[in-house]
Amino acid sequence: MSWLSNFVRPKIRALVKKSENTNNFWVKCNGCEQMVYHKDLKETLSVCPTCDYHMKMPARQRINWVLDEGTIKEINIPQTVIDPLKFKDNKKYTDRLKVSKEKSKNEDAIIVASGQIGGNNAVVAALDFDFMGGSMGVAVGEGFLEAAKEAVSLNVPLIVFTASGGARMQEGIFSLMQLPRTVIAVNKLKENNIPYIVILTDPTTGGVSASFAMLGDITYAEPGALIGFAGPRVIQSTVNETLPEGFQTSEYLLDHGMIDDVVSRKNLKAVISNTIMHLVNNISKERSYSH
Ligand SMILES: [Zn+2]
Repeated sequence: MSWLSNFVRPKIRALVKKSENTNNFWVKCNGCEQMVYHKDLKETLSVCPTCDYHMKMPARQRINWVLDEGTIKEINIPQTVIDPLKFKDNKKYTDRLKVSKEKSKNEDAIIVASGQIGGNNAVVAALDFDFMGGSMGVAVGEGFLEAAKEAVSLNVPLIVFTASGGARMQEGIFSLMQLPRTVIAVNKLKENNIPYIVILTDPTTGGVSASFAMLGDITYAEPGALIGFAGPRVIQSTVNETLPEGFQTSEYLLDHGMIDDVVSRKNLKAVISNTIMHLVNNISKERSYSH
């Protein structure tokens, strides 16, 4: 018995533990179902090397990748009301927030930072799908407003990466109020001649797609992203008809003139940087003509 418990059991535990750890090194691709080694994914920016499927990129990784090294300055988002409705379903909303904060190491579902993209000054806001599905409550609205305010005060373009299931249901009407709030913030950008570039990533739906996500001066999307208001299953069961192939994907939206281009992640940073250069140069030319 002692031999069994002192020798065999620890050995078996060690074996099981080892295999669990090894599993963390492999990520299953949702596109081709192949296992991809995590180090390879780091090099390919979380794009599957076999089928080019663009996996979700956490907001912090997104900021660190798109902004030039050494230029990143994270912008604090003012504290907002937490749990305005004292909401509880099978779990308290405050408990859900706590879990998401620990998991994502973020305060809410948006990160805002200023810095440079390929040497061009910009403010970047990235939504975090890992934080309660990137849903937009008061804190995300506030984060977007802060990003717009910063872009106006620095007189630099605002670049936004969307990834969201929609409104934060636990905040009810307060969540819906963020739609007009963010739209007003976009108008402020336009009034101040600040270029506003949106990059739609998988998925961008609900209240986010019904507000600031679709108002960019230039709108790009990553390949294969789901972009729409309601999900395809909901629409299919409502209209009771089979939806066309590729409905609500980036490519479908491009074909129907809803977005400006579909850009692979590996080219995205260069494309954004080029776009900023064109827009900023044209704006400064326009300004000098008008004087
Ligand atoms: Zn794949």
